[in-house]
Amino acid sequence: MDSALTARLAQICGAASVISDPQELRTYECDGLTAHRCSPGLAVLPQSAEEVAAVVRECAASRTPFVARGSGTGLSGGALPRSDGVLIVLSKMRAILEIDPVSRRAIVEPGVTNLAVSKAAERYGLFYAPDPSSQLVCSVGGNVAENSGGAHCLKYGFTVHHVTGLEIVTPEGELTWLGDGTGAAPGYDLVGMFTGSEGTLGIVTKIAVKLTVIPEAVTTLLAAFTTMGAGGAAVSAIISAGILPGAIEMMDALAIEAAEAAVHCEYPEGAGAVLIVELDGPRGDVTREEAAVREICTKAGAYEIRAARDAAERAAIWRGRKSAFAAVGRISPAYIVQDGVVPRTALPAVLDRISELSAAAGIRVANVFHAGDGNLHPLVLFDDAVPGEQEAAEKVSGAILDLCIEHGGSITGEHGVGVDKSRYLPRMFGADDLATMQLLRCAFDPAGLCNPGKIFPTPRLCGEVPGIRRDPHPLVASGQLDQF
Ligand SMILES: Cc1cc2nc3c(=O)[nH]c(=O)nc-3n(C[C@H](O)[C@H](O)[C@H](O)COP(=O)(O)OP(=O)(O)OC[C@H]3O[C@@H](n4cnc5c(N)ncnc54)[C@H](O)[C@@H]3O)c2cc1C
Repeated sequence: MDSALTARLAQICGAASVISDPQELRTYECDGLTAHRCSPGLAVLPQSAEEVAAVVRECAASRTPFVARGSGTGLSGGALPRSDGVLIVLSKMRAILEIDPVSRRAIVEPGVTNLAVSKAAERYGLFYAPDPSSQLVCSVGGNVAENSGGAHCLKYGFTVHHVTGLEIVTPEGELTWLGDGTGAAPGYDLVGMFTGSEGTLGIVTKIAVKLTVIPEAVTTLLAAFTTMGAGGAAVSAIISAGILPGAIEMMDALAIEAAEAAVHCEYPEGAGAVLIVELDGPRGDVTREEAAVREICTKAGAYEIRAARDAAERAAIWRGRKSAFAAVGRISPAYIVQDGVVPRTALPAVLDRISELSAAAGIRVANVFHAGDGNLHPLVLFDDAVPGEQEAAEKVSGAILDLCIEHGGSITGEHGVGVDKSRYLPRMFGADDLATMQLLRCAFDPAGLCNPGKIFPTPRLCGEVPGIRRDPHPLVASGQLDQF
């Protein structure tokens, strides 16, 4: 990395917050997706929004690419650094700046962990609803960039439904607010557009979020079925009965085996599938809904239904589910965590087809997923010491995404496109769609310096003609948009 730039960044952030030692830089070479690795040219850990803005201005002036990083738990390589670039690590900016219990809002810095917001709000009877399973460590800034979901997003919605304003640093280094913190600002929904943009439109430096009232009662049920089909039928029946649980999660036999090996969650013996159904709200509603869910699950073939009697039993039921990704390490030397979505009604057909793909390729697939919103997380297991297995696993993994698209779903539900899935994007969007998205990106980042190489299949500079298109984009040709 250019030594003059290093010196200027050390002046801005302090020498102790600039990392240039190659050994230390290896800490940041990947996120939760370890298949992609690259040490950054330089890492900086700013302590304020003003420092972030000054760092970005230096990068813009020297035409140096830069990448934001929160806690590095992303599963699509979104925070993968550039060897010729600066990694801007937000983990020192973790203050909860304001909690307003009256308007039920908080303003936080981007490096604060997701769970820390709920913990701080608890004394007011409030919590921050989006709850990725990584919530103990992942940052709210990373959640905004990925529009993260979680087990309770079925009822409460995704990150985008809880963010009302964002302070950002634009790719040119300007510090500005999107939205007014109420969620009701007139004009284009720039907060909605920025949320889920995977760090490609700028860097979030403050987040205004809604807080939600902690429900009066919570009941967590664990229902065991002999087959996935029976569990899937119960999911459809619960929703069509008009019940909206906080969460409906499902695990198949292989995922249960892994969770048992890792955390001894003691799910019912012989289960081909377990369903975790969490009901929350006013006590009377929860009691009524629990009775209805028990009846529906029994009709669908549940052979055992347990209800958590206290917080410890509730945590025990969730332990198996929340540990599932890491737990498959107990039953397989290597695995791919896939993330796709299908309409809930397509779940049975898609799960059957995944079993067929798995059997045909001789590659085991464990299924653990947010059943209520059709968000699949197939864990594709392989042994990287066996020649050809990794390639076979990647093929199965790609075929699962094709299956999601075929059924009207998406190649990602909550983990983002990042660097990992950019090659699949053209399977879902045509050249015109991709070109239009590039126009939006280029409107924010004309120099192409902000997290380049992510989301889109072919990184290109904004002045270049996108994709295979040689004529101007129709919106540009009609004068409705400018090509930068
Ligand atoms: C065990 C495990 C379980 C998980 N469970 C879930 C789950 O249930 N639901 C879910 O949605 N995800 C889940 N994830 C994925 C991951 O935790 C989320 O994507 C999370 O939001 C990433 O946050 P992070 O702070 O680690 O971000 P990072 O990995 O550091 O970065 C992710 C992306 O955000 C960008 N970014 C980070 N900070 C900023 C910022 N301040 N401004 C602009 N861009 C920024 C980065 O450039 C990158 O593109 C899980 C991951 C693991 C390892």
